[in-house]
Amino acid sequence: MDSRSGFRPLEVQNLVIVGSGPAGFTAAIYAARANLNPVLVTGFQVGGIPGGQLMTTTFVENFPGFPDGVLGPELMDLMKAQAIRWGTELVEGDVESIDLSKKPFLVKVDEKFIQTHSLIIATGASANRLGLPNEKKYWTRGISACAICDGATPQFRKEALAVVGGGDSACEEAVYLTKYGSHVHLIVRSNRLRASAAMTDRVLSNSSITVHWETEVIDVEGADWLESLQLRRKGSSNDESIFVRGLFYAIGHKPNTEFLADQLKTDSNGYLLTNPGRSETSVQGVFAAGDVSDFEWRQGVTAAASGCKAALSAERWLSKKNLSNLVLREVLEPAQVPKTTVISTTTKENYKSDAIWQKGSYALRKLYHDSKNPLLVVYTSSTCGPCHVLKPQIMRVLQELEGKAQGVEIDIDSDLEIAEQAGVTGTPMVQLFKGKSLKAQWKGVKPRSEFKTAIIEQF
Ligand code: NDP
Repeated sequence: MDSRSGFRPLEVQNLVIVGSGPAGFTAAIYAARANLNPVLVTGFQVGGIPGGQLMTTTFVENFPGFPDGVLGPELMDLMKAQAIRWGTELVEGDVESIDLSKKPFLVKVDEKFIQTHSLIIATGASANRLGLPNEKKYWTRGISACAICDGATPQFRKEALAVVGGGDSACEEAVYLTKYGSHVHLIVRSNRLRASAAMTDRVLSNSSITVHWETEVIDVEGADWLESLQLRRKGSSNDESIFVRGLFYAIGHKPNTEFLADQLKTDSNGYLLTNPGRSETSVQGVFAAGDVSDFEWRQGVTAAASGCKAALSAERWLSKKNLSNLVLREVLEPAQVPKTTVISTTTKENYKSDAIWQKGSYALRKLYHDSKNPLLVVYTSSTCGPCHVLKPQIMRVLQELEGKAQGVEIDIDSDLEIAEQAGVTGTPMVQLFKGKSLKAQWKGVKPRSEFKTAIIEQF
């Protein structure tokens, strides 16, 4: 457990919160300030990435308090820091199962069990896929569920790209991709966009975007990499083929409730049912917050508000049932959150041959040729939320190994040529080198232990 609270651990927790999006972290902030010492299970690989859907978005322009907008991953970092500051215990892992038939409830996280009197389920929703016949073949070879993470990769530069969907995500991604692609096709199955008016205007006024109304993607084709989409327009018997090198899905989400194994009542689409306007689910002591129980609003700010309601409901319920075991604060005013330090690109002047973590092509060239240590090269892009999750994990592994391995971050926006040579097809991507030879490669967010084991094998 990772905590700055200094509270004594409880044998049976007051409250376990599952999920680390705006709903989960807001619930944690309220519960921690109520001295409940909540445990928050962040999720890791199941149901998206820790931090939730805002980790794969760029600027959030409608969260109150940020007049100029705030990057999604940055907003989630701030919420996380606030929850930890007030005494939330974080467990980094996926909940495998929850047993609601016993009191206290039993939560299984990565082979360990946590007992708790109450629960808040805030697991959000995962991105849908189209399920095209050739989808698997071109997944990560042209098809992606995250334009914001993968848009900057070399294969998409100056190429025709396509986005499927008609909501805010699709519109945001279409506009974002015009930065990299030569042209963007937005494939919309109906005759209208369901995105907000501001987003719709941005799409319709952008000459680099062509909207294909009432059109569905039937399949994809290509060689090693995606080359074309087969499109079918409503009412037309002739399919059309358009040349694109990238296809990005933005077709909505499905609630993450599988781990609950039907123990809580849901609607026909799997959203958790709660008492109208409230957080109570069909089992006493279990509350729901955020997108997992909200098929209608699904906003960062409504998720945060429902997290607040769920925490206050849980607090009242625990107190009514005489179950809350309030923990005393050792320090009344917790220390302020340290300001994050931005790591600047390494140059000839500030390069250090023994530094654990450096950034950019200069450091990579030097370490690749000179270092005798295992070398992790971490390819990132500035707007990539999963990179945000992965980087601190890898830094932690390198710190634990006390300098016996080193890391270099390559921002593919600034070092495109290196990314091309390395065959980066999406971010984050990690390569492990020893003595100039490639020993292992990972795409996406992986558990810390995988990197550590692979590095130790090189000692
Ligand atoms: P939405 O559910 O709002 O939109 C999904 C879109 O995908 C719809 O246009 C839908 O079409 C289409 N779709 C669904 N299934 C298919 C399919 N099989 N084939 C083709 N098209 C399909 O999801 P979003 O992710 O866009 O948004 C989720 C929530 O997050 C919303 O509340 C949105 O406002 C919010 N959001 C806010 C952002 C911001 O403020 N910066 C950014 C992104 C999202 P149809 O309309 O025909 O059903």
